[in-house]
Amino acid sequence: MKINQSSSTKKHSRRDFIKQLSAGAASLALSSPLIGSSLLNKKTKSDKKMGIALVGLGYYSRDLLAPALQETKECYLAGIVTGTPSKEETWSEKYNIPQKNIYNYENFDEIADNDDIDIIYIVLPNSMHAEYTIRAAKAGKHVICEKPMALNARECEEMIKACENNKVGLSLGYRMQFERTTQEIIRLGRDEVYGKVKLINGAAGFRMNRGGAWRTIKAMGGGPMEDIGIYALQAARLVTGEEPLSVTAQAYNSRPEIFKEVPESVSFQLLFPGGTIASLAGSFGIFTTDLFVTAEDGWFNLQPFWTYTGIKGTTPDGPLSFPERNQQAVQMDEMAVSFRDGKPLRVTGIEGLKDVKIIKAVEESISGGGKQVRII
Ligand code: NAD
Repeated sequence: MKINQSSSTKKHSRRDFIKQLSAGAASLALSSPLIGSSLLNKKTKSDKKMGIALVGLGYYSRDLLAPALQETKECYLAGIVTGTPSKEETWSEKYNIPQKNIYNYENFDEIADNDDIDIIYIVLPNSMHAEYTIRAAKAGKHVICEKPMALNARECEEMIKACENNKVGLSLGYRMQFERTTQEIIRLGRDEVYGKVKLINGAAGFRMNRGGAWRTIKAMGGGPMEDIGIYALQAARLVTGEEPLSVTAQAYNSRPEIFKEVPESVSFQLLFPGGTIASLAGSFGIFTTDLFVTAEDGWFNLQPFWTYTGIKGTTPDGPLSFPERNQQAVQMDEMAVSFRDGKPLRVTGIEGLKDVKIIKAVEESISGGGKQVRII
């Protein structure tokens, strides 16, 4: 169903929308993450299913996002942007995408005139996130950008500004924030259910056996911290509900023939204002998916903690049990409702900027021989 609006009404509602979004984002960030998830159960202002265009049809779009978009209720796969002509045909047949909703990187900006597309989802190598987010914002479309947000803080700030200037929403593909057991672990930490959190141990990694792809190329935003260590970083920030004061970090490389530009593994330690210490790692060397939180009066863990399915939590009171739902479908549905109805976004651009600043501090510590770097 399409919404028919005159351009002045459209502008007006966009202005209202952006006001609501920025006002609401602050309060949602401070409140329990569970509040946001009830968005899906509430009656929304409009019934319009939001059209999403995926930009970049690699692994994550093909294997996770497009299938998830077959399960979503508030949004659907309306269009694609690809540089590979053979994918146009395959995708258009498989997902019934009309030719008028298929773009390449050259004619991408013409998407501005396409009313079927409400949201553009950037699923490109990390070094391309800033350019395509800014182009999508200029086309007047809401944006979801994959993690990590961009190469550096300056790019993140430009992306946030472009979305503000064009009065569109911006969110990031931090899917774990939409996962129910993860949300409970965050609540246990923030509400100090087992007392104040003192220590967080987290390791996120998988075994990469070949170099050469963009994940191993520095200029393309590759590296274990950017790609997978970011899950451990997010976990520590969300469980404490605080921003780290400083970081120390070390890099390891047992296979320099594969990892020529980026390390194989990064180990990093964060100090939080409340005194919590987090000892974390991101690795291309080994599959690991453990999060263990030690609090004054107890403990809780997630294992696995960053995988697409099977997230399991345990506390001294027993296992945490929640129904499993498709993470990407829940994420995109909730974002679509926020964009459409001007409801607070669970994940804003600022969230991506904070992580990128810490990732840069991790790099600075490594290049300074593991020195302590203040995070500003
Ligand atoms: P991928 O390499 O499989 O796909 C990247 C796509 O970008 C390909 O279709 C490729 O053709 C296209 N592309 C366009 N220009 C390119 C260029 N100059 N060089 C290389 N590729 C180019 O990568 P992916 O695994 O799909 O990752 C894409 C993004 O999604 C990354 O930002 C990644 O961090 C993110 N991601 C997120 C999750 C998650 O769980 N949230 C999981 C996987 C990937």
